Amino acid sequence: MLKDNLCTRGVPTTCSSRILDGWRPPYTATVVERVLAAGGVPMGKANLDEFAMGSSTENSAFGPTRNPRDPSRVPGGSSGGSAAAVAAGFAPLALGSDTGGSIRQPAALCGVVGMKPTYGAVSRYGLVAFASSLDQIGPLAANVADAALLYEVIAGHDPADSTSIRQPLPPVAAGLDDGVEGLRVGVVEELAGAEGMEPEVVAAVDGATRALENAGAVVDRVSVPSVIYGLSAYYLIAPAEASSNLARYDGVRYGLRVDADDVGGMNARTRARGFGAEVKRRIMLGTYALSAGYYDAYYGQAQRARTLIIRDLARAYERFDVLLAPTSPTVAFPIGERVEDPLAMYLSDVCTIPPTWPGTPP
Ligand code: GLN
Repeated sequence: MLKDNLCTRGVPTTCSSRILDGWRPPYTATVVERVLAAGGVPMGKANLDEFAMGSSTENSAFGPTRNPRDPSRVPGGSSGGSAAAVAAGFAPLALGSDTGGSIRQPAALCGVVGMKPTYGAVSRYGLVAFASSLDQIGPLAANVADAALLYEVIAGHDPADSTSIRQPLPPVAAGLDDGVEGLRVGVVEELAGAEGMEPEVVAAVDGATRALENAGAVVDRVSVPSVIYGLSAYYLIAPAEASSNLARYDGVRYGLRVDADDVGGMNARTRARGFGAEVKRRIMLGTYALSAGYYDAYYGQAQRARTLIIRDLARAYERFDVLLAPTSPTVAFPIGERVEDPLAMYLSDVCTIPPTWPGTPP
């Protein structure tokens, strides 16, 4: 199952947005080509939050996706369609994209495995851009071995993506049976102990910690103070990049066009009709954060926070092989609960965003 922000030649690719109505890409994403070359059969295109902006798959022009484990609840987002397809058993494997948590959070909320690869490990060629410095495609699957298999099929250098890593990547599937004896695991205090964590989440993290200890890992707590700035920095940097990436939907080059007396009017009407509320909010936020006079106070400051988090995490990785934290502060929430409250929705990403900054797989 393919998230519908992955281009498929001649087959509609909607990003769950009206603005791409009728658009058929002239090329296929590298990841899809690689799946085909490995003998995979794409089953369909899965729902997502419009342009991958959201944490519940409710921001879709086609309506929400439901969580197969409890249809009154959201599947998470933005790769909610991909996660739900795997959880429901519709597809054994799915591809999603992750900018600030969009593979990891829906995987957690649907009870499947999701992996955000290291930035640059998987080609972004043919992935419709949201925030290019963060976007990464990755696998969703019913178990770790299947996710590792799909990752190895899609990973590797691609000259069509200038940020693609040139060195050979370490294999992952071969090490799956190695065990965790002696592995140094750091539990990030600021995330694992954050205010507002639901008891089910705390219990799941405690359970994972104990299981690792029982299997021979050495678990300790680690403080990474700057992670608390992650969410604020993300909601400036990601919209800033999005506002620039989404400028191309002008009614001329792709999909929808709403006519008017002059070109400016046509651009404005097309964008007003074509984009949903959350996408418009992000474009406005991003444009503001980048505007003259505010650039340094918002975008610049957010980039400094990003550097601080990268540095603090690098320090933590000197003592630990892996860091452990919850994926989402809550279990799957009821459909409709957060649609009127964007800030509550953004809080879903509080744990997935900090490890996104260094580009490493969280
Ligand atoms: N939920 C986050 C957002 O709304 C992350 C989205 C993503 O990773 N694509 O931006």
